[in-house]
Amino acid sequence: QINEAAAVVFSVPSYACQRRTTLQNHNTVLTEALSLLAENAELNEEDGRAIAFRRSEAVLKALPKAVTNLADLRGLPCLGEHSLKIIKDVLKDGVSSEVETTRQSDRYKALKVLTGIFGVGAKTADRWIKMGISTLHQLQASGQTLNQAQQAGLEHYEDLNQPVAKAEADAIGDVVQKVVLSVLPGALITLIGGFRRGKPTGHDVDFLITHPEEGREVGLLPKVASLLKSQGFLLYQKTTRNSYLESDDGPARLSSNMDRFERCFSIFKLEMNPGTTRSGTPRSSSRTESQSDDHSPQTPGGVHENGLESRRRSWRAVRVDLVVSPISQFAFALLGWTGSKLFEREMRRWAGHEKAMSLSSHALYDTKQRRYLRAASEEEIFAHLGLEYIPPSQRNA
Ligand code: ATP
Ligand code: MN
Ligand code: MN
Repeated sequence: QINEAAAVVFSVPSYACQRRTTLQNHNTVLTEALSLLAENAELNEEDGRAIAFRRSEAVLKALPKAVTNLADLRGLPCLGEHSLKIIKDVLKDGVSSEVETTRQSDRYKALKVLTGIFGVGAKTADRWIKMGISTLHQLQASGQTLNQAQQAGLEHYEDLNQPVAKAEADAIGDVVQKVVLSVLPGALITLIGGFRRGKPTGHDVDFLITHPEEGREVGLLPKVASLLKSQGFLLYQKTTRNSYLESDDGPARLSSNMDRFERCFSIFKLEMNPGTTRSGTPRSSSRTESQSDDHSPQTPGGVHENGLESRRRSWRAVRVDLVVSPISQFAFALLGWTGSKLFEREMRRWAGHEKAMSLSSHALYDTKQRRYLRAASEEEIFAHLGLEYIPPSQRNA
């Protein structure tokens, strides 16, 4: 096309929570480049940098068509110098050398492999890399002490790095629903996280549980977890109690994005019937090319599921998060656990910077009125914040 004269002018508000971001992305080449740099910054705990790349990525995701010309970007918010340089390179050459260099770098590859273990974060991975550990084999051979989560993570490494399909999420939902209702009749179970936003796959499955009668939900998860375990559905679980008290430390700590609901982080054993086994989906489908060299996440010998053995298995491991909220906080929990992560972060930033309010997955506090604002639905929370309501399917920032 030789039409370079007219630059499209996009108008995009600056907070992601003011925008409608669907899964239809017209700029995947650009957003994947920025996303890799954001991920690399996250893995290196360079938070400011990571957020800057995430914001640029999100602006491009919200555009109604593909950017073909740098001039198309005029007037767009959040695009810093660094992001613009990356976009410029990709528009010109189809790739960015900085992105490709990062993708190929030993450190990035090692951080990816090690943090791909459930229970291993950036700090632990960095410590191991400094000790010369950058593959699963080296980790295995090092004799490092692993906690229970990490042991389970290593044992189910391959499965947990395979995307979870919506049908698998629904199958797990049926099991969870049955067990929860047997412990607490009348409980309400909602699929949250990426699947609620309409994503076809996810890295885990997230459920929010509540009960219409306040208080009935207390202590639910330990019972649910032990039932699931006795029925053979759990390969790993860690349940924590609700530690939230409105009166104890008020809104100050609410700005942190860690909430304090009763919750269970688990690894589910999902039985698959022959029609849905992985034979239909190549096991390497979700791997990036960077993982197919000698840093490849082959599971260390002896521990587990591998090769032929796993192809014959009738089950797979899936990460499942269960969260319980009292009904009075349900709307906040639902909003806070639906994501995307950037959408949530932007909503809290909007609340703080534009409205002098403090938003968490538990509550909304108005600093000027010095009181909590109640809400029975997500719509009411958006209204309190002076935002147009954005449905889950348009929160894919
Ligand atoms: P994926 O499809 O990859 O799972 P996701 O959007 O579901 O993507 P999750 O990491 O499962 O991502 O998180 C879902 C939502 O729950 C996000 O909005 C996130 O902010 C929220 N969340 C996750 N962990 C916590 C936590 N420890 N405390 C509070 N909120 C959390
Ligand atoms: Mn999720
Ligand atoms: Mn999750």
